[in-house]
Amino acid sequence: MRSTLSPHAPSKNPLFIHYKCKSITMNVELSRVLYIDLSKKSISIEDRSDLFDAYIGGTGVAIKLLAEECPEGVDPLSGANPIILAVGTISALYPAASKTVAMFKSPLTSNLGESHCGGRSAIAIRLAGYGAIVIRGKSDIPVYLAIHGDDVRFKDASSIWGVDSETVGRILREVEPGAGMRTIIRIGRAGERLVRYACAVSETYRHFGRLGLGAVMGAKRLKALVISADKSVEIPGDTRKAYKSVYDEIQDLVVKTDAMEKYHDLGTSGKIYSLAKLGGMTYKNLESGSPPDELARELSGENFAEKLLARRVSCAHCPVGCIHLASLRELYEPGYYFKTTTIPYDNEPIYATGFMLGMNKPEDCLRLIDVIDRIGMDVISTGVILAWATEAYARGLITDEHTDGVELRWGDVHGYCEAIKRIVSMPTDFYRALARGVEYASGVYGGQDYALAFGGNEMPEYHTGIACYVNNLVGARHSHLDSAGYDLDQKLIGKKVSIEDIVSSLLSEEEWRQVLSSLVVCFFARKVYSPEVTVKALNALGLERKWTEEDLKALGREIHRAKMNFKFREGFDIAKLRIPKRILEVPTPNGMLKEEDLRHALAIYEEKIRS
Ligand code: SF4
Repeated sequence: MRSTLSPHAPSKNPLFIHYKCKSITMNVELSRVLYIDLSKKSISIEDRSDLFDAYIGGTGVAIKLLAEECPEGVDPLSGANPIILAVGTISALYPAASKTVAMFKSPLTSNLGESHCGGRSAIAIRLAGYGAIVIRGKSDIPVYLAIHGDDVRFKDASSIWGVDSETVGRILREVEPGAGMRTIIRIGRAGERLVRYACAVSETYRHFGRLGLGAVMGAKRLKALVISADKSVEIPGDTRKAYKSVYDEIQDLVVKTDAMEKYHDLGTSGKIYSLAKLGGMTYKNLESGSPPDELARELSGENFAEKLLARRVSCAHCPVGCIHLASLRELYEPGYYFKTTTIPYDNEPIYATGFMLGMNKPEDCLRLIDVIDRIGMDVISTGVILAWATEAYARGLITDEHTDGVELRWGDVHGYCEAIKRIVSMPTDFYRALARGVEYASGVYGGQDYALAFGGNEMPEYHTGIACYVNNLVGARHSHLDSAGYDLDQKLIGKKVSIEDIVSSLLSEEEWRQVLSSLVVCFFARKVYSPEVTVKALNALGLERKWTEEDLKALGREIHRAKMNFKFREGFDIAKLRIPKRILEVPTPNGMLKEEDLRHALAIYEEKIRS
């Protein structure tokens, strides 16, 4: 069904348009989509139960909305590129179903942009009354959106344009209502300046990190969204008992088993030391997969926790508390004057700022993470781009003239901070190229053999074997989270498995993850939300449709194909994927990689998804 609920007529002042929609009772089924047009400063709300009933929310609904809304071949940095935010059928209803999916055309890869973020985003969107929010058009002046339940306002953001992401959060926390059940999604300077891997930050410590949502927001002159909740979900009376029983079962799996324990203890950085010892950690632009032991200990999760961990926080409606916050105490004036900064750290940021850039101390990683966060860039992309630039500088491919006098040297935190600022201010053509990603920059300046991007997206840390690279090359988001190839590689060490079987495993993992990201479950809870538990969770809500494991698996496959079709429509070509020579020159824990094996795997993958 596709019907429009009419908002009240807009006021004449385009900066303070205020819509008051009819109040609604929230039932357990998601249906409402809020459409916002930044060009016209108008909104509409439509009943899209047609999409939510069939695709259960999140990724499934978002890819359908993206296909409807995004014109073929559109410039990702034009107003015509839509932003879709979507939550899932179990968001706000079960533990660890705490993520929001953002979908858009990526300005980095020019095809599918998809990013997931926790914080309070999912709870706020759902309990504001929406299953999805679609943002169209481009504002004539900087604006932020204030969505308080059914109140939607366009507000002048001129005074906060140019302000870093953390300060924007502080200001909006003061001026907007709804504390506690509110999300504030905003961009920093990088998004405003259209750095193609700019991120959007939510609740200070969470991010829509990858593929450039921040740049798409910047192109729309949308500085932030404040969304606050004013509703609750009614579980039908006859299913409340079943719901409570499944809820308790999931809660117990989360807090009383070891399924998610490691995420609370050391967090994802707990695996850093073992990965480095295994020889699967990308070090100094993959000069090696085995950083020195002393360095691996210094940058390990254990050392971060012992020296710097201040506290852990959680996304809303998740008891795990996997977000690790370090406290960095620094002298800022001679004498006993200190400032203490709270900085989130995690496996990927430590890889990107630490191992990739040859940093020797956790404190220096934190300094870089803080600068990158405030400026609003994806930390993985930033680290990989700077690592390529450092190697290109050492080889004489780029000079001080290109770098505006900044010396790029392994482990030089000051130089990297200066370079990061220049990626945003763009004083030279070289920095303008860096702002477009390493695929582009290496295409202009050379050094493609060691430009570590796959499908246009900068690589995550893993150099574990063939599975991680097949994942990076053809995963729909070119993210290690598409199918966790790095995990499969580690399970395959010492075993002989055919390339066909590896591709099949990756594909079935990626298909199942479409179900989780449609519901939208945090991938850290994937062991909790097995197919059996997921079916129970859905069916205990009293939905009209009763789901089976087979239904969900078929749905995952359908959603995955829809995402790939969007990529193909936008020009993604598996046969033309660039494989950087560097990954073939450094041994993995599974031995040396061969290009013909990777190409063979890609051909099998393409055949499977097109059949
Ligand atoms: S496990 Fe961590 S990232 Fe996932 S929902 Fe919980 S707190 Fe958020």
